[in-house]
Amino acid sequence: MDKQNIIAVDGPAGSGKSSVTKAIAKKFNLNHVDTGAIFRAIALKIDDSFDEFDDDFNDFIDSIKLEYEKVDGDLSLKIDGVQMSGKIREHHVSALASKHSANIMVRKKVENIEKQIVKDSKQLCILEGRDIGAFVFPDAILKIYLDASVNVRAKRRMGELEDSKLTLDELIKDIKDRDDQDMNRVHAPLTKAEDAILIDTSDLKFEDVVEKISQLITSKGIA
Ligand code: C5P
Repeated sequence: MDKQNIIAVDGPAGSGKSSVTKAIAKKFNLNHVDTGAIFRAIALKIDDSFDEFDDDFNDFIDSIKLEYEKVDGDLSLKIDGVQMSGKIREHHVSALASKHSANIMVRKKVENIEKQIVKDSKQLCILEGRDIGAFVFPDAILKIYLDASVNVRAKRRMGELEDSKLTLDELIKDIKDRDDQDMNRVHAPLTKAEDAILIDTSDLKFEDVVEKISQLITSKGIA
Protein backbone atom coordinates (compact mmCIF):
# COMPACT_ATOMS: atom_id res chain seq x y z
CA MET A 1 0.00 0.00 0.00
CA ASP A 2 1.34 3.45 -0.90
CA LYS A 3 1.84 5.68 2.10
CA GLN A 4 -0.02 8.97 2.20
CA ASN A 5 2.04 12.11 2.74
CA ILE A 6 0.49 12.96 6.08
CA ILE A 7 1.87 13.13 9.59
CA ALA A 8 -0.54 11.78 12.22
CA VAL A 9 -0.02 12.70 15.87
CA ASP A 10 -2.45 11.11 18.32
CA GLY A 11 -2.66 10.91 22.07
CA PRO A 12 -4.76 11.76 25.12
CA ALA A 13 -5.50 15.23 26.53
CA GLY A 14 -2.41 16.96 27.88
CA SER A 15 0.09 14.69 26.13
CA GLY A 16 1.59 17.73 24.41
CA LYS A 17 0.06 17.23 20.94
CA SER A 18 -1.04 20.81 20.29
CA SER A 19 2.08 22.71 21.30
CA VAL A 20 4.42 20.16 19.74
CA THR A 21 2.56 19.83 16.43
CA LYS A 22 2.29 23.62 16.13
CA ALA A 23 6.06 23.96 16.61
CA ILE A 24 6.75 21.18 14.10
CA ALA A 25 4.37 22.78 11.58
CA LYS A 26 6.18 26.09 11.92
CA LYS A 27 9.62 24.52 11.63
CA PHE A 28 8.84 22.47 8.50
CA ASN A 29 6.21 24.75 6.96
CA LEU A 30 3.40 22.20 7.32
CA ASN A 31 -0.36 22.69 7.49
CA HIS A 32 -1.28 22.09 11.15
CA VAL A 33 -4.77 20.63 11.60
CA ASP A 34 -6.17 20.49 15.13
CA THR A 35 -8.96 17.93 14.72
CA GLY A 36 -10.08 18.33 18.35
CA ALA A 37 -11.09 21.89 17.48
CA ILE A 38 -13.54 20.55 14.87
CA PHE A 39 -15.10 18.14 17.41
CA ARG A 40 -15.30 20.98 19.92
CA ALA A 41 -17.06 23.31 17.45
CA ILE A 42 -19.62 20.69 16.46
CA ALA A 43 -20.23 19.69 20.09
CA LEU A 44 -20.88 23.31 20.98
CA LYS A 45 -23.28 23.67 18.06
CA ILE A 46 -25.20 20.56 19.20
CA ASP A 47 -25.33 21.87 22.76
CA ASP A 48 -26.52 25.33 21.67
CA SER A 49 -28.99 24.47 18.94
CA PHE A 50 -30.08 20.83 18.87
CA ASP A 51 -33.66 20.40 20.06
CA GLU A 52 -34.20 16.76 20.98
CA PHE A 53 -37.98 17.09 20.70
CA ASP A 54 -38.12 18.81 17.32
CA ASP A 55 -34.92 17.86 15.49
CA ASP A 56 -33.76 14.62 13.94
CA PHE A 57 -30.14 14.18 15.08
CA ASN A 58 -28.82 12.84 11.77
CA ASP A 59 -30.47 15.63 9.77
CA PHE A 60 -29.16 18.17 12.26
CA ILE A 61 -25.55 16.95 11.91
CA ASP A 62 -25.92 16.73 8.13
CA SER A 63 -27.13 20.30 7.92
CA ILE A 64 -24.21 21.80 9.87
CA LYS A 65 -22.19 23.99 7.53
CA LEU A 66 -18.65 24.30 8.77
CA GLU A 67 -16.23 26.74 7.16
CA TYR A 68 -12.55 26.84 7.98
CA GLU A 69 -9.63 29.06 7.20
CA LYS A 70 -6.12 29.45 8.57
CA VAL A 71 -5.51 32.50 10.77
CA ASP A 72 -1.97 32.86 12.13
CA GLY A 73 -1.44 29.12 11.73
CA ASP A 74 -4.61 28.15 13.64
CA LEU A 75 -7.83 26.74 12.23
CA SER A 76 -10.49 29.42 12.42
CA LEU A 77 -13.85 27.67 12.42
CA LYS A 78 -17.28 29.05 11.60
CA ILE A 79 -20.47 27.06 11.92
CA ASP A 80 -23.45 28.38 9.98
CA GLY A 81 -21.58 31.67 9.72
CA VAL A 82 -20.88 31.99 13.47
CA GLN A 83 -17.25 32.22 14.62
CA MET A 84 -16.58 29.33 17.05
CA SER A 85 -12.86 29.63 17.70
CA GLY A 86 -12.83 31.49 21.04
CA LYS A 87 -15.68 29.62 22.70
CA ILE A 88 -14.44 26.13 21.88
CA ARG A 89 -11.50 26.55 24.28
CA GLU A 90 -13.71 27.01 27.34
CA HIS A 91 -13.19 24.22 29.85
CA HIS A 92 -16.72 22.76 29.78
CA VAL A 93 -16.43 22.19 26.01
CA SER A 94 -13.82 19.43 26.57
CA ALA A 95 -16.38 17.15 28.20
CA LEU A 96 -19.05 18.10 25.65
CA ALA A 97 -16.68 17.25 22.78
CA SER A 98 -15.78 13.93 24.37
CA LYS A 99 -19.46 13.06 24.82
CA HIS A 100 -20.59 13.95 21.29
CA SER A 101 -17.48 12.56 19.60
CA ALA A 102 -18.68 9.07 20.54
CA ASN A 103 -21.53 9.45 18.04
CA ILE A 104 -20.90 7.80 14.67
CA MET A 105 -22.65 10.60 12.72
CA VAL A 106 -20.47 13.21 14.36
CA ARG A 107 -17.33 11.15 13.67
CA LYS A 108 -18.25 10.69 10.00
CA LYS A 109 -18.94 14.40 9.65
CA VAL A 110 -15.55 15.30 11.13
CA GLU A 111 -13.75 12.63 9.11
CA ASN A 112 -15.16 14.09 5.88
CA ILE A 113 -14.05 17.58 6.92
CA GLU A 114 -10.54 16.31 7.76
CA LYS A 115 -10.27 14.57 4.38
CA GLN A 116 -11.44 17.72 2.61
CA ILE A 117 -8.87 19.85 4.46
CA VAL A 118 -6.08 17.46 3.43
CA LYS A 119 -7.33 17.38 -0.16
CA ASP A 120 -7.47 21.19 -0.38
CA SER A 121 -4.12 21.71 1.33
CA LYS A 122 -1.23 22.95 -0.75
CA GLN A 123 1.21 21.95 2.02
CA LEU A 124 1.95 18.65 3.69
CA CYS A 125 -0.48 18.23 6.63
CA ILE A 126 0.26 17.35 10.23
CA LEU A 127 -2.99 16.30 11.91
CA GLU A 128 -3.32 15.98 15.68
CA GLY A 129 -6.16 14.07 17.28
CA ARG A 130 -7.24 10.76 18.77
CA ASP A 131 -7.99 8.56 15.77
CA ILE A 132 -5.88 9.94 12.93
CA GLY A 133 -3.23 7.21 12.64
CA ALA A 134 -5.43 4.27 13.61
CA PHE A 135 -8.64 5.10 11.73
CA VAL A 136 -8.82 8.24 9.55
CA PHE A 137 -5.47 8.04 7.76
CA PRO A 138 -4.18 4.49 8.43
CA ASP A 139 -1.70 4.88 5.56
CA ALA A 140 -0.09 8.07 6.93
CA ILE A 141 3.64 8.16 6.19
CA LEU A 142 4.53 8.95 9.82
CA LYS A 143 2.46 8.16 12.89
CA ILE A 144 3.33 9.31 16.35
CA TYR A 145 1.53 8.56 19.60
CA LEU A 146 2.27 10.99 22.42
CA ASP A 147 1.51 9.99 25.98
CA ALA A 148 2.31 11.13 29.53
CA SER A 149 1.26 10.23 33.06
CA VAL A 150 -2.13 11.51 34.24
CA ASN A 151 -0.47 13.78 36.84
CA VAL A 152 1.81 15.44 34.31
CA ARG A 153 -1.08 15.91 31.89
CA ALA A 154 -3.31 17.46 34.56
CA LYS A 155 -0.54 19.89 35.55
CA ARG A 156 -0.16 20.94 31.92
CA ARG A 157 -3.91 21.55 31.65
CA MET A 158 -3.71 23.64 34.79
CA GLY A 159 -1.05 25.82 33.14
CA GLU A 160 -3.23 26.26 30.03
CA LEU A 161 -6.41 27.18 31.94
CA GLU A 162 -5.09 30.36 33.51
CA ASP A 163 -8.42 31.72 34.79
CA SER A 164 -9.83 28.41 35.92
CA LYS A 165 -10.64 27.82 39.59
CA LEU A 166 -10.27 24.05 39.18
CA THR A 167 -7.91 22.25 41.55
CA LEU A 168 -5.31 19.74 40.41
CA ASP A 169 -7.43 16.88 41.79
CA GLU A 170 -10.44 18.07 39.81
CA LEU A 171 -8.35 18.25 36.64
CA ILE A 172 -6.97 14.75 37.29
CA LYS A 173 -10.53 13.47 37.57
CA ASP A 174 -11.54 15.33 34.38
CA ILE A 175 -8.64 13.84 32.45
CA LYS A 176 -9.33 10.32 33.72
CA ASP A 177 -13.02 10.63 32.79
CA ARG A 178 -12.13 11.90 29.32
CA ASP A 179 -9.53 9.13 28.80
CA ASP A 180 -12.10 6.59 29.86
CA GLN A 181 -14.73 7.96 27.48
CA ASP A 182 -12.30 8.40 24.54
CA MET A 183 -10.63 5.00 24.94
CA ASN A 184 -13.76 2.96 25.48
CA ARG A 185 -16.17 4.32 22.89
CA VAL A 186 -17.33 1.92 20.20
CA HIS A 187 -16.37 4.00 17.15
CA ALA A 188 -12.73 4.91 16.56
CA PRO A 189 -11.60 4.80 20.20
CA LEU A 190 -8.36 6.47 21.19
CA THR A 191 -5.66 3.90 20.61
CA LYS A 192 -2.07 3.77 19.43
CA ALA A 193 -1.90 2.54 15.84
CA GLU A 194 0.30 -0.57 15.67
CA ASP A 195 2.87 1.20 13.51
CA ALA A 196 2.83 4.49 15.48
CA ILE A 197 5.99 5.55 17.29
CA LEU A 198 5.31 6.01 21.00
CA ILE A 199 6.86 9.02 22.73
CA ASP A 200 6.25 9.32 26.47
CA THR A 201 6.56 13.05 27.16
CA SER A 202 6.21 12.79 30.98
CA ASP A 203 9.88 13.49 31.66
CA LEU A 204 10.83 15.21 28.43
CA LYS A 205 11.24 18.90 27.83
CA PHE A 206 9.11 20.44 25.10
CA GLU A 207 12.21 21.10 22.94
CA ASP A 208 13.29 17.45 23.28
CA VAL A 209 9.94 16.20 21.99
CA VAL A 210 10.12 18.64 19.07
CA GLU A 211 13.67 17.46 18.36
CA LYS A 212 12.71 13.77 18.43
CA ILE A 213 9.88 14.31 15.97
CA SER A 214 12.04 16.56 13.79
CA GLN A 215 14.60 13.76 13.53
CA LEU A 216 11.91 11.29 12.49
CA ILE A 217 10.65 13.67 9.81
CA THR A 218 14.13 14.33 8.49
CA SER A 219 15.26 10.71 8.60
CA LYS A 220 12.23 9.66 6.59
CA GLY A 221 12.88 12.47 4.10
CA ILE A 222 9.32 13.72 4.55
CA ALA A 223 9.97 17.45 4.71
O1 C5P B 1 -7.87 17.45 21.53
P1 C5P B 1 -9.04 18.08 22.24
O2 C5P B 1 -8.94 18.07 23.72
O3 C5P B 1 -9.37 19.43 21.72
O4 C5P B 1 -10.27 17.13 21.85
C1 C5P B 1 -11.53 17.27 22.47
C2 C5P B 1 -12.27 15.94 22.39
O5 C5P B 1 -12.60 15.67 21.02
C3 C5P B 1 -11.48 14.71 22.85
O6 C5P B 1 -11.61 14.46 24.23
C4 C5P B 1 -12.10 13.59 22.04
O7 C5P B 1 -13.26 13.08 22.66
C5 C5P B 1 -12.53 14.26 20.75
N1 C5P B 1 -11.62 13.99 19.65
C6 C5P B 1 -11.77 12.80 18.98
N2 C5P B 1 -11.01 12.54 17.89
C7 C5P B 1 -10.09 13.43 17.47
C8 C5P B 1 -9.89 14.64 18.15
C9 C5P B 1 -10.67 14.89 19.27
O8 C5P B 1 -12.60 11.97 19.35
N3 C5P B 1 -9.40 13.14 16.35
